[in-house]
Amino acid sequence: MPEGDTIFRTAATLHRALAGSKVTAFETVLPKLASVDDQHQLRGRTIESVRAAGKHLLIDFEGGLTLRTHMRMNGSWHIYRRGERWQRPRSEMRIVIETEAFVAIGFSIPVAEFTSDAPQLGPDLLLDSVDMGEALQRMRAHGSDEIGNALLNQRIVAGIGNIWKSESLFAAGVDPFRRVSELDDATIVNILTIAHKLLRASALADRPPRKSVYQGKLCRRCGSKIEYRRQGADARGTYWCPRCQT
Ligand SMILES: [Zn+2]
Repeated sequence: MPEGDTIFRTAATLHRALAGSKVTAFETVLPKLASVDDQHQLRGRTIESVRAAGKHLLIDFEGGLTLRTHMRMNGSWHIYRRGERWQRPRSEMRIVIETEAFVAIGFSIPVAEFTSDAPQLGPDLLLDSVDMGEALQRMRAHGSDEIGNALLNQRIVAGIGNIWKSESLFAAGVDPFRRVSELDDATIVNILTIAHKLLRASALADRPPRKSVYQGKLCRRCGSKIEYRRQGADARGTYWCPRCQT
């Protein structure tokens, strides 16, 4: 039975290989995990960290999802370069997580489950189809928030980070400092629809969408100087064009 220190070393090895990379493929023979993957699609999410917690090995994915595995007697995680030969038979494969450079395989793992550290997550914009009505309703419950902050609140909609926050608001022509309550439904849904498209493209396309304002100097559309300011309690950087976004 793998001891805690073995798990710890495995976690460190997996962490070095995987952390910061995007999942390019996820495969599992465990139905419980497969159904979570159907709903929340692991492909396209960044692996944030791999860590040991006692006898558990935890893999944290972008968006608050964590895969918890327990090795019991026979389970183990292996890491291979792409194309490298597996050291255990395919019939023992339970979970495969691929990145551009590596393939991590959980063999004979008896206990595995996804947990979420953010159970109140809003509709996930990385998914194929998004319940915009639900997202809008959650937005409306935060009427006094600035739209730039509301887009980052994963309890309103899940998946938007700092880059696509700025880019979505630019594409929609909306000032990031406007309050949600000042925006009509069509405007909010338009922002979210743009964010959805950008996130999907960023996660799944070969080349990420071009950035227009994020870390930009001059507006591509009107030539004005792009403004930058820290926004919200977490002081997240916001880029916007003061002329194109009102
Ligand atoms: Zn402009």
